[in-house]
Amino acid sequence: MRAVRFHTFGGPEVLQLDDVPIQEPGAGEVVVKIHASGVNHLDKWLRTGARPGIELPHTPGSEIAGEIVRTGAAVPLDAVGRRVAVSPWIYCGICEYCLQGEESICDSGLIVGTGANNGGYAEYITVPVNITVPIPENLSYDDAAALTLAAITSWHMLYRRTRIQPGEWVLVQAAGSGVGVYAVQIARFLGGRVIATASTKEKLDRARELGAEVTINYEETEVEGEVKRVTNGRGVDVVFEHVGEATWDQSIRSLARNGRLVTCGATTGRGGSVDIGLLYTRQQSLLGSMGGNRLDLEQVLSLAARGILVPVLDTVFPLAAAQDAHRRMAARAQFGKMLLHPIA
Ligand SMILES: [Zn+2]
Repeated sequence: MRAVRFHTFGGPEVLQLDDVPIQEPGAGEVVVKIHASGVNHLDKWLRTGARPGIELPHTPGSEIAGEIVRTGAAVPLDAVGRRVAVSPWIYCGICEYCLQGEESICDSGLIVGTGANNGGYAEYITVPVNITVPIPENLSYDDAAALTLAAITSWHMLYRRTRIQPGEWVLVQAAGSGVGVYAVQIARFLGGRVIATASTKEKLDRARELGAEVTINYEETEVEGEVKRVTNGRGVDVVFEHVGEATWDQSIRSLARNGRLVTCGATTGRGGSVDIGLLYTRQQSLLGSMGGNRLDLEQVLSLAARGILVPVLDTVFPLAAAQDAHRRMAARAQFGKMLLHPIA
């Protein structure tokens, strides 16, 4: 099969198309013929060597939708032909976190396409059958791939971790990003009033279409001040963070009393400070959130099948043009999910 791999760490130019064997499915595993594969910031961290534990050459890609075409031992034969999304966490199933259904924080878990595990920038992938989730009939492979990691991350953050209540103000930072476009929709669906930030008018207009009530161009307007103005000096109940160091201070200062900040990433850097005095006197909470679980994926696909969650697609590239997709990501030019199509 054809797969995009990098043999050395570096810029987008290290991504190259190779011929590689399809991995034989072991017991409990299936071969998925990939129809659509998402491009994620995570892939860039792998490509540049910023994330340790990679064996070279490596195929990135953690957002996969396709069709089961072969099965290993101990897999029901009727699995063949099933349209599936691949849940991004390979998990042990026996640690205390797995027993709680928290596969994304499994003691020995691994994200598909990281570590020694090759990912979705390929024509086929071999994965445990227990991380495949059926795609509802009226959802396309593109839709499913666009939801697989980004949407479950947002769902896990806003539904499970912060438990948004109806009427609460929610600040979504970088609403044009992969997770941001779903955060706007999910916060709205849960009854939140959304304030979205982005860098261009076009992205802010899209955020409004997806359900944002207020938009802030962070290149032109100071976010904290505008949040305070909109909420009559009060601040927001929930901040949706993933940008990291560049927005951390304004995110914390935008929180109301009893506010919760939830974060799933640190794209611009890991540094960030907290005024402990303000944290306790304002009775605020800081919440981490790691990806999402199979149940999150099943729920997100179900919401999308009913039209409640709209998959947001940016550009579809052929597999051979993975370099172009990574350049577009580096330029922060996309709104929503970029996909690779292995099958021309
Ligand atoms: Zn586990």
